[in-house]
Parts: sequence; structure tokens; C-alpha cells
Amino acid sequence: MTDNPTNKPTRRRLPPWLRRPLPAGATYHCTEQTLADLALQTICTNANCPNRGQCWARGTATVLILGNICTRNCKFCSVGTGRPLPPDPSEPARVAEMARRMDLKYLVITSVNRDDLPDGGAAQFRDCIIEIRRRRPDMKFEILTPDFRRCQAQALEILRPALPFVFAHNVEVVPELYARARAGGDYRESLDLLRLAKDTYGDIITKSSIMLGLGETDEQIERALADLRAVRCDRITIGQYLKPSKDSLDVVEYVTPAKFDQWKNRALGLGFSWVCAEPFARSSYFAERDNAR
Ligand code: SF4
Repeated sequence: MTDNPTNKPTRRRLPPWLRRPLPAGATYHCTEQTLADLALQTICTNANCPNRGQCWARGTATVLILGNICTRNCKFCSVGTGRPLPPDPSEPARVAEMARRMDLKYLVITSVNRDDLPDGGAAQFRDCIIEIRRRRPDMKFEILTPDFRRCQAQALEILRPALPFVFAHNVEVVPELYARARAGGDYRESLDLLRLAKDTYGDIITKSSIMLGLGETDEQIERALADLRAVRCDRITIGQYLKPSKDSLDVVEYVTPAKFDQWKNRALGLGFSWVCAEPFARSSYFAERDNAR
């Protein structure tokens, strides 16, 4: 049970299960160099992801397309906000070259919110996948998209030529926290997008993610998981929120690994076919693992 009725931020030292070694190793540096050479952004760096050392040392990274300036200002996120640049037509080829150099078999592609674009950025996702697949036909993809506010049906049609892919969209937090954490988002719209992806593409795998430790209650988590199953969401990651920048929301609670195990069992019991629930779980964390439905 999340026990903080006042929701006042509490400053605590990181518990032992959240301490990690600093990034190191030849593969880590190779990943870093490849991304720098190709001038690619990742959510790993822009969101200050705590898994970067581990993921990059495994030779994987989640590419952030459409720039690193977001049109929204979510309080759990450290990605910069402002007026983004137009989509870069050279980006699909650079992402494809990254896949080649890193010899990737599975790639998660995500983007900032692009409310300035009529298609929300859908065409750039499509073009990246098509370009990579042209060079590497066996590549598998997962796209972690924004909510495509005001253009959901259009965006899904634009993405259709890039099928198959796992379609991920994160509700991020329980709906009761949206006003504080995700003011530019709409919980129902996010659920609608996941439902629409299923309705539009039929047998596609859908995925979402939720962060704990922001002051939510067990009942709120339980309801959010049920809401996701109600729109036939297949996969879920449940992880610990960690304050990514000094301006981000404070952590209210560090949820124990044992509690994450309970949520994993609960999610499996609700019918999710793939669950990653642990303190360091993030939407793209080990996304390639056990990639059968
Ligand atoms: S979990 Fe995802 S965002 Fe974090 S470092 Fe790994 S690939 Fe990057």
C-alpha cells in the first residue's frame, strides 16, 4: 500500500536495490560512439534513464526520433520542452545505419510529443521502420508513440505500411495523478489510442507502462491495470519513478522489490501476456526479451 496521505514529497536516500554501478565497458562506449557519430538522440540520455549503463553495455538503446524538444511539459520527465525543429529527412537513414552498426535484431523507437505536426510525427516513425527494414528485413520493431492527440485514426493509418511492430503507448501514471504529473495528457485518450490500435490493426501486440512511487494508492494501480486490460493491452511494464531532473516531481515512495513481485503476479492474473514489474522496469527495458506473445 502506498502510504502517504498528504502526498508531501519525502527526501530519502536511495534504497540499496536502486543503486547501480557507473556505466563502463567496451560495448557501452561503442554504443555511445555510434550514437554520437550518427547524431542520434536517445530517450536513454534525454530521460536520464537509470538503465543506460546496463542497456548500452548490452549493445541496445532506444532511439528518440523527431528531436529532443517536446511540445509538452510532463513533470515526471526531463526531456526539454519548447518549439521543435521540423522532422529531419535524413533521420531514417541515420537510424538504419545505427541498426547496422550495432547489429540490432530488435529496436524500440520513440519520440517526443509533436503536437505541432498534423500527423503527430507518425510519418517519421513509418519512414524509419521502412528504411531499416529495407536494409535489414528481419529486424523487429517496437514503437512507443505519443498519444497522437487530435489525429489518432490518421496516425494509425499512416503507420500501417510499417507493420508489423509492437505498438506501445504509455499511460505513465494512474489517472488521479494526471493533473500533477501529465497535465498535457488525457488518460482516456491514451486508453483510446491503445484500443484503436487493436481495432485498426487486428492482431497487433499492444503495450503500456506505468510508474509507481508518485503517491498513487494500490486501488488506483489496480484500476489502471484493469483499464488497460479493458482495452486489450497485452503487455505492461511497471517501474519505480525516479526523479530525472531537479525540476521534476519528487519521489513519494520507493516501492520494494517484493511489492513489484506482487504487482507482476497481479498483472499476470489480470491477463497481461508479458509483464516486466521491477524497480528498474522502463517501457523499453529488455523489450526484446521473450518476444513471443
Ligand atoms: S531502459 Fe530503455 S530508455 Fe532506459 S537505457 Fe534501456 S533502452 Fe534506454
